Amino acid sequence: RYPVICIDGPSGAGKGTVTWRLAQTLGYQLLDSGALYRIVGLKAFEAGLLNVDGEQSIDETALLALTQSLQIVFEPNIDSGRVDIIVNGAKIGEQVRNETVGGYASRVAVYPKVRQALLKLQQDMASQSGLVADGRDMGTVVFPDADVKVYLTASAKARAERRVAQLLQAGQAADFEAILATIKARDDRDENRATAPSKPAEDALVLDSSNLDADAVYELVKKHCQD
Ligand code: C5P
Repeated sequence: RYPVICIDGPSGAGKGTVTWRLAQTLGYQLLDSGALYRIVGLKAFEAGLLNVDGEQSIDETALLALTQSLQIVFEPNIDSGRVDIIVNGAKIGEQVRNETVGGYASRVAVYPKVRQALLKLQQDMASQSGLVADGRDMGTVVFPDADVKVYLTASAKARAERRVAQLLQAGQAADFEAILATIKARDDRDENRATAPSKPAEDALVLDSSNLDADAVYELVKKHCQD
């Protein structure tokens, strides 16, 4: 089997950047597992399976059928510094990365059948080359035997501040309190679900990036990979 590096943790802790840089440097494939749940969430929304206002449960049989109908492929995009996502032959727009779809993703991600349906696809990505895997349960469920496991976290406040800075830089409006509340709601759902909750593996290095910039995080993770 090829080497696997797992980078788990909540959104906004800097996983995407460090995962991308490691994959580029090592010549490994990149698994953006959050994108899988985002695609299922977006498609479920488009199919009318999500009740947008409430937290009502979703028809799990329909959700499973929908998940199984998706052929998902990742292609690295050097310009954006992340992977493009191709679903059933069509490239998915940037909309899939927004917080609304992040919320849809965390709602579909509580269903064990959805997680099971995405499991083999994720594990197969380590069968042809080394892999850097970004997610919530990479080190605990998908690759329990991984060579390196990192749980990258940061305070909700630090993550909300980063998000505000990103939005302002993109010329968009940003409401700190609203963003903080959204982040906490998604953390809460991801950390407290029954199946594959977001948590560090027992053998993971837990790294708090609240007071670190992206370069410092990258250097620490790289050093841990070499140890
Ligand atoms: O990392 P990202 O923000 O793209 O993930 C979106 C959502 O997908 C997470 O909030 C979580 O609910 C779900 N997810 C998951 N397991 C993973 C990756 C993401 O449940 N390995």
